[in-house]
Amino acid sequence: MSGAVRAVGNNTTVIGMVVLKPRGEDRVRGGHPWVYRSDIAEVTGAEPGAVVQVRGARQRVLGHALFSDQSQITIRMISRDETPIDEAFWRARLSTAIRFRDTLQVNATAFRLVHGEADLLPSLIVDRYADYLVIQTLSQGMDRLAPTLVPLLVELTGATGVLARNDPKVRRLEGLEQTVEVLHGDVPATIDVHELGVRYSVDPWHGQKTGLFLDQRENREAAARYAHGRLLDCFSYNGGFGLALAAKCASVEALDVSADAVARIAENAAANGITNLTAREANVFDELRHLERDGSRFDTIVLDPPAFAKNKASIPNALAGYKEINLRALRLLNPGGYLITCSCSYNVDEAMFAEAVFAASSDAHIPVTVVEKRMQGRDHPVLLGVPE
Ligand code: SAH
Repeated sequence: MSGAVRAVGNNTTVIGMVVLKPRGEDRVRGGHPWVYRSDIAEVTGAEPGAVVQVRGARQRVLGHALFSDQSQITIRMISRDETPIDEAFWRARLSTAIRFRDTLQVNATAFRLVHGEADLLPSLIVDRYADYLVIQTLSQGMDRLAPTLVPLLVELTGATGVLARNDPKVRRLEGLEQTVEVLHGDVPATIDVHELGVRYSVDPWHGQKTGLFLDQRENREAAARYAHGRLLDCFSYNGGFGLALAAKCASVEALDVSADAVARIAENAAANGITNLTAREANVFDELRHLERDGSRFDTIVLDPPAFAKNKASIPNALAGYKEINLRALRLLNPGGYLITCSCSYNVDEAMFAEAVFAASSDAHIPVTVVEKRMQGRDHPVLLGVPE
């Protein structure tokens, strides 16, 4: 190897070189940030998690990438030229991501500042919760860069504490430990934030994801345009939809299988002076059947389940699950009622999901019109060509 080792500042050293096979090169030239192991021709002198120089078949420099010696995704592109990858590079990347969020005028003190690949910061997640940041470094490369990135994030955001919620399972694919640790300052057991005028007490240490389902904020806002009468909030977690819609509804019943989540909704409702909400611990699949048997009817129903299809093999079961809950929910709706139905399964695309909801309406003999189709909030943008 020659000319591919270059020190460019603390913790951001370009170490090693990766040469791509033609298919890998085409993929990178086509704009995709990931190259799989099978499309790599040669790896020279690259340590796990290093920033490597990436070359094409005829040794042409294609840019730089984060290298993993464990994941099937061997490299994640971070640049597409020869500009050095130093602290200034990362500062610029992070400030671009942060400035973009400034322009969104999000009505919340909790939102996503960095959404991985879409911010050209592959495998890095940064969520802001008031004065604190909760981050996830989901590849060897980003993990190794944490000592560089955390001080920059603190400088750019003025955060008083940074927590690494590095407990997602995907870290195992990178040979990384699942850990939760403070990387800067102090991070309390709960952080008070507001979203759409609702106050939440968030547990960044143990809450799902980084504490809240921030990706649904704008869908909650949109749902408020339709919500009315008696609302059933299924898979409510700590009340994202129920609390945001309570003011528009006569009553709210929230269902979640987790006792912890139910306790938190009740707390959050009390803290917001919301008195028309009740939360119960229940399995939605069973409870929808019970409600139907009891003759209950609702004007608005929210279905926001966890991802039913975690992988390709579980797609058929996932579709059956989506159909089942949508069918039962439709049967519980009063005429003119609204169903706010969601899927967060990457493996179930929009067409498959629409098909499942249609199958539900057809089996229930209830004609349904679609009034709005949405995706995750604007602080979670999607990079074109990178549906993953
Ligand atoms: N709607 C929430 C996010 C829901 S996340 C929000 O806007 O913030 C999915 C939730 O479903 C989790 O809280 C999980 O505990 C719950 N859950 C998973 N399976 C369930 C089931 N079978 N019945 C009820 N709740 C379930």
